[in-house]
Amino acid sequence: MNNDRNLQKSGCTCSFCECEPSLQTFIHEMVDRFFAKRKLHRAWKSRFLCGDTIPQNWLREHHRLSRLLQFKIDTAVEAIYSKTALMPPPPIKKEAPWDVILVNEALQLLGTEGIPQKYAGGMLLLYLELCEGIFLD
Ligand SMILES: [Zn+2]
Repeated sequence: MNNDRNLQKSGCTCSFCECEPSLQTFIHEMVDRFFAKRKLHRAWKSRFLCGDTIPQNWLREHHRLSRLLQFKIDTAVEAIYSKTALMPPPPIKKEAPWDVILVNEALQLLGTEGIPQKYAGGMLLLYLELCEGIFLD
């Protein structure tokens, strides 16, 4: 396990590995702050037998950080909808489709928490993956 705070893949040219160390630190802190008070979705717990807390090393994983910078809001939302279209809706019927409500609430939450617009798409995916159990792949 690599405990380096600015974990990079050697030779990788993704947006995360290419950005300045100070920006990488900013992104780590943003992710840590946002997820510190949030609970891991039960879909993860049954698989990995972990508790409620999101392990910090998960937030440091290259594929998550790399994806975080990769998605703009519109492409993130599109990716989610193409995934949720294949999922069964929950039994409780609401006025709007459940995935539209979920995405809107998540985006509002990110705004309330002061997540910069630039990272909202990636953070949306990360949040839905870890806290709502919606996996893109
Ligand atoms: Zn990379």
